Amino acid sequence: MSDIIEIPAFLRELLIKEYPNDSARIFRGFVRRPVTLRANTLKATAEEVALALNGMGVSFSRMPWYEDAFLLDRTDGRDIAGSPLFSEGKIYLQSLSSMLPPLFLAPKAGESVLDMTAAPGGKTTQLAALSGGRALITACEKDRVRFGRLKFNLARQGAAKVNAMQADALKLDGFFRFDKILLDAPCSGSGTLAPGERAKISPELVKNCARTQKALLKKGLGLLKDGGVLLYSTCSVLKEENEEAVAFALSEGAALLPLKPLAGLPLLPSPAGTVTVCPDETFEGFFLAMLQK
Ligand code: SAM
Repeated sequence: MSDIIEIPAFLRELLIKEYPNDSARIFRGFVRRPVTLRANTLKATAEEVALALNGMGVSFSRMPWYEDAFLLDRTDGRDIAGSPLFSEGKIYLQSLSSMLPPLFLAPKAGESVLDMTAAPGGKTTQLAALSGGRALITACEKDRVRFGRLKFNLARQGAAKVNAMQADALKLDGFFRFDKILLDAPCSGSGTLAPGERAKISPELVKNCARTQKALLKKGLGLLKDGGVLLYSTCSVLKEENEEAVAFALSEGAALLPLKPLAGLPLLPSPAGTVTVCPDETFEGFFLAMLQK
């Protein structure tokens, strides 16, 4: 696989403009990362997973901020994907950054939770695991093929109680109200560029994503109970998709609940109370903000 990273010229210029002191760090962070995974506690404890990995001769390190997260010492995950641990749903291959939104949302038993844009389901199954399978989770996905992946992953991960629906979240019936909503929005993916992959990011894509993100945010806020919270996340570091989306939510009457970044996260400058993760050798670029109705 090629080690050459192709960053579209418009994106390079935009990142330099938006992060004058950090753009070089961002560009250095567009690398191939080691395999990371989450122990699926609906099926196995983190200690069982650690023992099984040891038994396979796989070296790993653990994260101080999440006992279920594992960082392997390799970038090739083929043997892991072929292992019983994987096929039995005891682990889920997931980037470290994408484990953050469910951790911050922290679903509890009995809470009604909506995952608005859910496929392939890494975060839905993590939400189920974090609540011990006892949160009342609805997972919504518009795309038919991706919905199939979501259903498959829910079954394999033992998150059978999740109510999965193939639907456009923008058309969800306003009759329902949720305690917590995860909006892991469709985005340009500007935080996840990697060598050997041709980045398909264009100014038009960023604009379209920003428009969709605002529409989903408005809908999500409308589906919250009074006092309920919505965790907004993207795997982009662009301000149009992140801080402008949050400013829009605030203009719609939401309040920002400040997030306390977890120890050890590589951070970029971010509006007060929000978290922007800088891409580096272990983390993808990511954005998180918690909004309250
Ligand atoms: N949260 C997922 C996970 O961790 O596995 C990843 C979600 S991905 C960033 C965004 C998803 O939103 C895509 O699967 C896309 O098809 C879906 N999507 C986009 N617009 C939607 C809409 N209006 N309603 C429901 N799903 C939508």
